[in-house]
Amino acid sequence: MSTHYSVAVIAGDGIGHEVVPAAMDIVDAAGSRHGFSIDWTPYPWGSEHYRTHGTMMPTDGLDRLAQHEAVFFGAVGAPDIPDHITLWGLLIPIRRGFQQYVNLRPARHVKGVRSPLAEPDGTDLMIVRENVEGEYSEVGGRFGRGTDAELAVQEAVFTRKGTARVAAYAAELAARRSGKLTSATKSNGIIHSMPFWDEVVAEAVAQQPGVELRSVLIDALAAAMVSRPQQFDVIVASNLFGDILSDLAAACVGSIGVAASANLNPERTYPSMFEPVHGSAPDIAGRGIANPVGQISTAALMLDFLGETKAAADINQAVDDVLRDGPRTPDLGGQDGTREVAEAIRKQLVCSR
Ligand code: ATP
Ligand code: MG
Repeated sequence: MSTHYSVAVIAGDGIGHEVVPAAMDIVDAAGSRHGFSIDWTPYPWGSEHYRTHGTMMPTDGLDRLAQHEAVFFGAVGAPDIPDHITLWGLLIPIRRGFQQYVNLRPARHVKGVRSPLAEPDGTDLMIVRENVEGEYSEVGGRFGRGTDAELAVQEAVFTRKGTARVAAYAAELAARRSGKLTSATKSNGIIHSMPFWDEVVAEAVAQQPGVELRSVLIDALAAAMVSRPQQFDVIVASNLFGDILSDLAAACVGSIGVAASANLNPERTYPSMFEPVHGSAPDIAGRGIANPVGQISTAALMLDFLGETKAAADINQAVDDVLRDGPRTPDLGGQDGTREVAEAIRKQLVCSR
């Protein structure tokens, strides 16, 4: 008896075409061991689609993706196409259209990966970033262009529903881990939205037994992330604070090439999307040296969300083993290629236990 999952694949641009197939092989290998299989459906969307058709994806793109249980995403971006087209033409419509209001970004230090911190050992945290509202809003504008009185207004929009649901997700995750939840705030300086955030987060977390909530000012939190990241487990943050904190956390534990992320619709009304933190890396694309670990760890997040927790844990273990003393790509100080690293992880996975 075998379980099947239907997954849409958007390799996208640049190194997406190198790391996505590598990660798919590993998922297939994990499936053979754990009694599931994935029906992968590739969609050739991204910058090439834009050059030929003038759009990053077809107009019925979301309808087509909606037929799958998950979207496995590589990267989009090309030096000759502005970010607002690549982002707003593909990633943002998927995140918003599918109400992927949780952006989950683990940051775990693995022995053997160099870190700028003196004491990175034992860092293992999860950042839960609000992904669809908050500071990244379209409300506002520029007024009096070119005059001495010119001004720009940028509104942040926080809703009770939007804040409560991301806090509830973070609280549930914290309950499954250590029970420690940190909320990033700035209620001493941002006097309307942040006290509201604090209040709604506290109410939502109170619904979850066994979770201890600590609110920390974002500036102090950023400093603590660098001085002692081991004190954190789950961190919940608004869109902007979460964006900055998760890049900071990723830099603290090593290369951008190893960082994973998930855009989740926890209610499962729509598919969730799994993408590594890195982009299309045009500077190294096509050379076979991209680190596949970010994409492979992203695949583990996807399997975990689909309910294949054992397979996900096995993949993470195989990644840790190879990072510790296996082949490594140049971004981690090695001289091996994407294929060698992915193959070592696949072997480690099928040979263990
Ligand atoms: P995009 O426009 O798609 O976001 P980018 O160049 O702005 O692309 P990244 O793709 O994240 O941003 O690249 C930032 C830097 O990190 C580049 O120097 C890139 O080569 C490096 N990098 C990113 N991903 C990897 C990876 N998987 N392996 C090795 N190096 C990587
Ligand atoms: Mg970029």
